Amino acid sequence: MIVLGIESSCDETAAAIVQDGTKILSSVVASQIEVHHKYGGVVPELASRMHIEAITPVVDEAVQKAAINIEDIDGVAATRGPGLIGALLVGFCFAKSFAWARQLPFAGVNHLEAHIYSLFLMDNKPKFPFIALVVSGGHTNIYHVTSYDNFELLGQTRDDAAGEAFDKVAKMLGIGYPGGPIIETLAKTKNPDAIMFPRTLLEKGSFDFSFSGIKSSVARYIHDKNITTKDEKAQVAASFQEAVIDVLSQKLINAAQHKKCLRIGIAGGVSANQTFVKKLSKRAKSKNIKVFSPPVELCGDNAAMIAARGYTMIQQGSLCALDHDVFSRTKTD
Ligand code: ATP
Ligand code: MG
Ligand code: FE
Repeated sequence: MIVLGIESSCDETAAAIVQDGTKILSSVVASQIEVHHKYGGVVPELASRMHIEAITPVVDEAVQKAAINIEDIDGVAATRGPGLIGALLVGFCFAKSFAWARQLPFAGVNHLEAHIYSLFLMDNKPKFPFIALVVSGGHTNIYHVTSYDNFELLGQTRDDAAGEAFDKVAKMLGIGYPGGPIIETLAKTKNPDAIMFPRTLLEKGSFDFSFSGIKSSVARYIHDKNITTKDEKAQVAASFQEAVIDVLSQKLINAAQHKKCLRIGIAGGVSANQTFVKKLSKRAKSKNIKVFSPPVELCGDNAAMIAARGYTMIQQGSLCALDHDVFSRTKTD
């Protein structure tokens, strides 16, 4: 079965063609980073307009790159939420119309479940059960995943998402947007333990996160020490990143031990951070736990993960009707 996937929840317009839920025939991502860059964050109204301009060429390109004909598509999937309503509507309505015109089954996909599905697009997939972390610009969620449809939420952030903290710290340092990749690169030259930023672990046994304390502590440090040079900024970046990685790793390993899982999968934009992947893998290995992380192109928003999740929903007959709508938040958000 060939599924066309469409993603437009935030600042990427993406389309992909995936065969049988696992084989990526094409995956096209049109990023709007250049446009939002000067505002230091995503401007929702601009995002919607850019999606409208990009959606048709991006879908055309995905079909072309997959070397298939439109008639070969057997099903359609699009992100239904969570995300920016105006942005979601563009991809969702496009996909709905496409499916209706060609009389194809249509699945409305949860963006967070789709991030977990990026782990199933790898040759080396985690077996069930495993602990999954969706760590991105809007979420830091830990799940206990026991099947293709069972994601038990164990914890989430009570304030900022980890990716959001990266973006805000980068903004404070005046080093650009999005912050994650810039901080990771800057951090490489410095000793991560030079500054001890706080690790917020919350109550014992809790799998929730809080990154606002780390963020405020970084803001105070930048102000008090008058951080201005590139060298000083790199040091702050390295120690901030270390604090975030430390908290994420501790919680993940605790969750794995609590649920007696020998596997941890990470997904979402922040999982592209190779320093995080390496440090988490090393710590997990000492507890006999294996870490799975998608290739970088599947960490951030993409439509291959949407098609992969859509495939299982179509198989199960879990379809969207034409009057179904998008949603901005999940019940647990
Ligand atoms: P959500 O998935 O919660 O709706 P989103 O889709 O906007 O949010 P993604 O596109 O999955 O999030 O991820 C974007 C986030 O990932 C940004 O906050 C960005 O700074 C962060 N990020 C990207 N690369 C890295 C990296 N190498 N290190 C740390 N963070 C990174
Ligand atoms: Mg994004
Ligand atoms: Fe995302």
